[in-house]
Amino acid sequence: MREANLIGGDWVDSDAGRTLEVLDPATDALVGRVPAMGRAETTRAVDAAAAAFPGWAARPAAARAATLREIASRMEAAKSGLAALVTAEQGKPLAEAAAEVEYAQSFFEVAAAAVDTLEDERPSVSGKSIRVRRRRVGVAVAITPWNFPIAMLAKKVAPALAAGCTQILKPAEQTPLSAIAFAEIAVEAGVPAGVFNLLTGDPAPIAEVLLADSRVRKLSFTGSTEVGRLLMRGGATNLLRLSLELGGHAPMLVFEDAGIESAVRIAMAAKYRNGGQTCICPNRFLVHESIHDAFVAALAAASAALVSGIGTQPGVALGPMIDDVAIAKVEAHVADAIRHGATLVTGGGRRRVAGAADRFHEPTVLAGCTGEMRCWREETFGPVCPVRSFRDDDEAIELANDSEYGLAAYAITSAPDRIERLGTSLQAGVIGINDPGPAVAAVPFGGVRHSGFGREGGRWGLEEYLELVTVSQVDD
Ligand code: NAD
Repeated sequence: MREANLIGGDWVDSDAGRTLEVLDPATDALVGRVPAMGRAETTRAVDAAAAAFPGWAARPAAARAATLREIASRMEAAKSGLAALVTAEQGKPLAEAAAEVEYAQSFFEVAAAAVDTLEDERPSVSGKSIRVRRRRVGVAVAITPWNFPIAMLAKKVAPALAAGCTQILKPAEQTPLSAIAFAEIAVEAGVPAGVFNLLTGDPAPIAEVLLADSRVRKLSFTGSTEVGRLLMRGGATNLLRLSLELGGHAPMLVFEDAGIESAVRIAMAAKYRNGGQTCICPNRFLVHESIHDAFVAALAAASAALVSGIGTQPGVALGPMIDDVAIAKVEAHVADAIRHGATLVTGGGRRRVAGAADRFHEPTVLAGCTGEMRCWREETFGPVCPVRSFRDDDEAIELANDSEYGLAAYAITSAPDRIERLGTSLQAGVIGINDPGPAVAAVPFGGVRHSGFGREGGRWGLEEYLELVTVSQVDD
């Protein structure tokens, strides 16, 4: 397993030889050590990306697309090794890690297919000949979180390279090894030196240099709303173009026409992916009063039956929380909800897993939740299902929208008029109707309000790396 960084086509260590340890969150075993890059190395990465930009941008779109397809096919060939690495450094069950690798691959395939959308347009304006051209913005930076170590980078690298930008990736400190494995694939697939660069290490000094360098023209960030705000402030000096994929607090609305069995199946699939450490996991279950008790009982039974364990063990559905801070937050949210009057229906504490670290939380269902509770207002990022009932559609929509976040929202219903209304009134960038997995590579994904702005996926993802230039010609 390689542990170096990639700058200008060279595999490099930090100048001072400093490293960061990467630990398996399930066992605390040392998985690897990666360079802790500083300011000088970061400037060299910008030098490399800036130098490589004209050549990559000038390459025919079809040639760039061919390189992206080569990356996708090499990821397919390397799938089991990549999935094992994702599980080792992130903790999710192996089957989920393999699904993540496939999801990541699909972004390269979709971006390769979307390069044709880069063609000029010629709107009709009387007396003039107009050509609207799309021009790649230049050097792009990607900063990614730990919860999907390979998918989050794919959502940024694929459209940036497809559009003709060069890029510098800074993955999360907890999960940099998947990014290094990806960088090796990119090199083997023929991505030229400097087109894709990788820096690992403490985020603040790296980000400071990137934000201050006027050659950087784009930042795509996925992570917490708090860090998103910080980067937005930091990017103001250079008027940096931003895409911010931030926190979520998705509601799931279960209407009276939902079948309990299918509603629970959809709820389980959406809620427990990555142990609830997913930005689009439902965090607030709103259930019609007529089916509330039956739904809660069935959700609790299904939740209690989930097997926790080390991600490589067969049958495991729930891995560990990423770190001690994360599990402490889950515990604090559960305790706070109970203190404010919620009923603990199942779970509520840590689960011991033989031979593993003390970082597993029981799947937990809390009934009678209200807006006073932290779990109803903040992202818990863990295996907790807060539930409350509603009387009618108006109340359900009002409660669903009573959040500063707006990433995903879900509803379980088959009523066409209601589905139409939900599509226009739910404050979210992604709405899943009877669909626990509305995020696929071919469609736009992103948030509204404090969940950020910008979209990833499909041709919309490429637009984030392009600017429109109008050439207006009047013939003599
Ligand atoms: P985080 O904001 O702590 O970290 C995300 C990235 O930002 C990491 O690479 C980290 O090193 C970097 N970072 C941290 N401090 C920084 C600084 N001062 N300057 C520059 N970079 C800095 O988030 P996290 O804990 O890794 O991820 C969880 C969060 O991400 C949750 O809020 C989750 O909802 C969100 N998320 C959003 C999406 C989405 O698509 N909207 C997807 C996944 C995760």
